[in-house]
Amino acid sequence: MNNKQVLFNLSPSELEQFIVGIGEPKFRAKQIAEWLWRGAPDFSVMKNLPVKLQEKLNEVAETLPLKIIKKLESSDEQTVKFLLQTTGTDAATIETVLMRTTYGNSVCVSSQVGCAMNCGFCASSLLGLKRNLTATEMLAQVLICNWTLYSVHDSRLTTHVVVMGTGEPLHNLDNLKEFLTAAHDKLSIGWRRMTVSTCGIVPGINELADWDKQVNLAISLHAPNDEIRDAIMPINKKYPIKDVMDAAFNYSAKSGRQLMVEYTLMQGIRDKGLGISNCLPEHAIELVNLLKPLIPNPLSLIPVMVNIIPLNAVAERGFSAPSNNAVYRFADILKENGIHCRIRRERGADIQSACGQLRISNQELGTS
Ligand code: SAH
Repeated sequence: MNNKQVLFNLSPSELEQFIVGIGEPKFRAKQIAEWLWRGAPDFSVMKNLPVKLQEKLNEVAETLPLKIIKKLESSDEQTVKFLLQTTGTDAATIETVLMRTTYGNSVCVSSQVGCAMNCGFCASSLLGLKRNLTATEMLAQVLICNWTLYSVHDSRLTTHVVVMGTGEPLHNLDNLKEFLTAAHDKLSIGWRRMTVSTCGIVPGINELADWDKQVNLAISLHAPNDEIRDAIMPINKKYPIKDVMDAAFNYSAKSGRQLMVEYTLMQGIRDKGLGISNCLPEHAIELVNLLKPLIPNPLSLIPVMVNIIPLNAVAERGFSAPSNNAVYRFADILKENGIHCRIRRERGADIQSACGQLRISNQELGTS
């Protein structure tokens, strides 16, 4: 059991109280707070503190409730994937990805330990759902990335947050809202620079709409009809496509934000018993027919953007990625029919960047 006080999430007065409580002068609290918001991993990096104080703090406190177990950098150095472990009793492992882009630094945050959704192509559910992450644990993922940005890249800190890591964020809505609010208030990340991705939890989408912030919504659709979606995403039996898309467009109308649709292209591997695919030209046409009537005036603005993602194949699952030709053909059909789309190669495929892959491979190696 770890009894150390986590400092990064304390209010300024709580931090002061703590510092005075261990017999140190008040002004140290301010010095420490600056390091905490850069995501300092421990106290030994806080160079303006006396070494004696660094050691004392290391005994009784920790900066963050997460520690890095593995850090993998893609060959182009733009994507960093972290395998993190909670410092609390359950020592849960989670994944976070930092993406350095031309428009800013984006962090892909996990919202749960594992996932209960069991989408047929994804690694996150392979070990089931363990628990929800707290708002503090979600915020700490961003801070971990801030430290890499600050100490390695000498760059500005995180500018964008996408809740697209392991887990279903709309099944952890209270903590999600608390986290987004903290990212906004404490890390100065604008609402419009945050995106929540869901497999389509309709009541959650509606609750997010009632919350009335300009956070972006992404729907993981992955199928143009209920038959295919039922086969690859069990949640579709509860919330079928029409209900999900109605709620999503309602959200978009209310928030004024462009709706994002995630569409991972995959083909079933027949000898694994899954003959089903979602990547043929007929599926692209069906997707056009599904989205078009929902777009009120396609010329006036871009109300929906489809992200086409070639599958990052997971060995335990029964799907492979389609050929490049099939990916381009799919995108061309959408474009020819007035649906905005872009092909998103999974960034950092060389570092197991698909949801849940790193965590799973780590557990297979027995690291827990
Ligand atoms: N539960 C949420 C967020 C986590 S998944 C959701 O469903 O949106 C984030 C995105 O990555 C989803 O669109 C998911 O379908 C996609 N994804 C998961 N595994 C993938 C893989 N192996 N290859 C490509 N995309 C994947």
